Order: sequence, then structure tokens, then C-alpha cells
Amino acid sequence: MRQGCISLGEVRCDNCHQVVPYLERYLVIDEKDGVESAEGTPSHCCVKCCLEKGYAHVKTEKDEEVVTFFSE
Ligand SMILES: [Zn+2]
Repeated sequence: MRQGCISLGEVRCDNCHQVVPYLERYLVIDEKDGVESAEGTPSHCCVKCCLEKGYAHVKTEKDEEVVTFFSE
């Protein structure tokens, strides 16, 4: 299961290990084929890594870039 969330500044991406900045969006991935994480623990993925992995896409809406996460 994947769920888009808003960072409170205390979330670290499990893929690139960068802290997700306050109010940035990130994805919680609770599935076996997600990014590396301890077994049974949902992993967190920043927008940049989501785009690289195809978990999200950017579309332009009214001259603004909007990131949309793919959920299942
Ligand atoms: Zn990342």
C-alpha cells in the first residue's frame, strides 16, 4: 500500500537518506518491493526518489507543477 503524506520535518527518505523538508510531500510504502527498509516497517520515499522510481509523476496545472503519487 502506498500513501502520500506531508512531512513534519522528521521524516528521512529510505532511498536517498535525505530528510524530507517540513511540509514537503513524501510517500509511505508498505509493501515488500518498496525501497530498502527493515522488514515489516513501511519505508518512506521523497518526491525526488518517487519520480525516479515511477511512483509519482509531475503534471503542469495552471502553470504550476503538481506532483501526483500513484496509489494502489
Ligand atoms: Zn529520496
